[in-house]
Amino acid sequence: MSTDLTTFDNLLAAVTVTDGQPVHDPATGELVGNTKMSSTDDVDAAVAIASQAQKSWGALSHAERADYLHKAADAVNASAEALAQILAREVGKPLNGPNARFEAGACEAWLRANADFPLEDEVLVDDESGKSVLSYVPIGVVGAIGPWNWPMMISVWQLAPSLRMGNAVILKPSEHTPLSVQALVAVLNQALPEGVLQVVPGEGDIGQAVSEHPDIDKIMFTGSTKTGQAIMRSAAADMKRVTLELGGNDAGIVLEDINVADMAQDIFWGAFINTGQTCAALKRLYVPASIYDELVQALAKIAAETPMGQGVSEENVLGPLQNAAQQKIVADLVEEARKDGATIVTGGNPDDHQTGYFYPATIVSDIDQKNPLVQIEQFGPALPIIKYDDLDQAIEWANELEVGLGSSVWSSDADRAREVANRLIAGTTWINKHGAVDPRVPFGGVKKSGMGLEFGVEGLKQVALPKVTTL
Ligand code: NAD
Repeated sequence: MSTDLTTFDNLLAAVTVTDGQPVHDPATGELVGNTKMSSTDDVDAAVAIASQAQKSWGALSHAERADYLHKAADAVNASAEALAQILAREVGKPLNGPNARFEAGACEAWLRANADFPLEDEVLVDDESGKSVLSYVPIGVVGAIGPWNWPMMISVWQLAPSLRMGNAVILKPSEHTPLSVQALVAVLNQALPEGVLQVVPGEGDIGQAVSEHPDIDKIMFTGSTKTGQAIMRSAAADMKRVTLELGGNDAGIVLEDINVADMAQDIFWGAFINTGQTCAALKRLYVPASIYDELVQALAKIAAETPMGQGVSEENVLGPLQNAAQQKIVADLVEEARKDGATIVTGGNPDDHQTGYFYPATIVSDIDQKNPLVQIEQFGPALPIIKYDDLDQAIEWANELEVGLGSSVWSSDADRAREVANRLIAGTTWINKHGAVDPRVPFGGVKKSGMGLEFGVEGLKQVALPKVTTL
């Protein structure tokens, strides 16, 4: 009889090994479990299995594959709490708030949405000259390489459209969060045919082996711009297709007409979702002089009052940084801002005696555009707030960096907000929210934030080959 994967203990036991690499809870340093680490031989073996399994998977109809995806979504639903408990320990993200339980729920939602998107053949020409039809056929084997911040959700963003379109998938999770992705795969594989979804936990060299493998046909990558560039180089030899979702440094521009009390919470969560460790989080906020002090104080109050602590404690909604390197990046950037004369309104003083990679929710004011905390993606709980007198100047500052993932405009006047939004260079510009994603709405970055789109019918097309038939 197969193991019941709906309990945390069983699910963790299913993905841990006795002699693997230890994984620790970033909040406490406690051992979560030992993970298997793959070799390049394991990658070769997984690709051989995937290539074989893809033949019959790719031959199924869309309706048949959709049925499998819904059954996989049912399995996620049944194991949702166990999955969230693993995220809370391995990533450190709290169970509540827009965190671990939310992430497990998003996995189910994205699986179901991708199962159901309609994708009809397009008749391009049908007249006396002949008939041309555009359809989308499987690419083959997709290698999906992911980051540590939303390990399950981003894996589903990659695997759900890929499977729907008839590809087999090999996931390479971040070395920081291998158990989360193996747990997700164990749950999904209760419903999927053998071999169409596999996982090869390992470090960057295993990611490189995936992106260089001659029998992998497409790479879906989410992570830093630097690694995205390395993957493009690796993929070039075989002309692999690539979708790259990379780093961002999203700007938010506030207009002077907002009601600060009404909008401060949403601005806060736009920046501090997942304790700031989110690709499309608000990472620099531009505020007009007329409401600057009021908004800074409102955000500082929320930051100081929002409970931060261990992922597994029900009361917390902010958690630790996931790893020591990320904690240091945030601490160093805030220190530099402080030395340059910026005001640390709240936070900014990590407790050195506390175990875990915590950094307090930090609001930094009186900071200028050239400061490294504004120029460099902090990817953590420290928000710089830049004062502006001239809206054109604020828009120029927002657009001046070499990344362009998301951005936002905050205003009570929808027309004015839309005008400003049209001038911002980013894959997505939100109005009166930041970072809200929807499985039906395409998402992707411009400039060095990536190429290609995920989600929606557009996302399906990007994990398929366009094929024209003409008679
Ligand atoms: P990272 O680039 O360090 O690592 C991502 C993955 O790439 C890991 O699995 C890693 O092992 C692998 N890797 C490393 N070197 C490789 C190589 N040479 N070839 C192939 N794979 C390799 O990124 P990270 O630190 O895990 O994630 C944080 C970054 O990801 C941030 O910049 C963030 O903005 C970005 N991000 C973007 C999105 C998005 O949708 N655009 C979403 C989440 C995170």
